[in-house]
Amino acid sequence: MAKCETGYLCDVCGGDVERIADSTLYLRFMLGEVDRSLLDRHPERHLACDPILAQFIETEGFETPFVDGPFGKSSLDPAFVADEESRVTRGYERLMELERRGAVLSEVLLGVKGLG
Ligand SMILES: [Zn+2]
Repeated sequence: MAKCETGYLCDVCGGDVERIADSTLYLRFMLGEVDRSLLDRHPERHLACDPILAQFIETEGFETPFVDGPFGKSSLDPAFVADEESRVTRGYERLMELERRGAVLSEVLLGVKGLG
C-alpha cells in the first residue's frame, strides 16, 4: 500500500491515471476480473494505453481504438466480440457514472456494490 497521493501510474506510458474512467484496473474490477484484495498489486494502465481492452468499448463519447493483428476484433470470433462489447461497455459506463458522481478511485471500491 505504498501508493502516493498522485494515484496509480500507468505501466505503459508511466503517466498518472487520474480519472476513474481512464483506468483499466478499475474497469477490470468492475467486470469482476480483479479481486478487491489484489487491486493494489495489479498494474494500472490508461484505457488509451490498452487498446486491446478499449476496442470493446462502444459508447458515445469514447473513441474506440482500432486494433490490428491476432487480438483485433476482426480476428476474433464475432460472438465473442459481441459478448465482450456488451460486457466491457457496461463496465465502462458504470465507471463513467461513478466519475459523474465525483467519486475518487478509493470510493469506487465502496460504491461498486450498490451499482447492481
Ligand atoms: Zn498510459
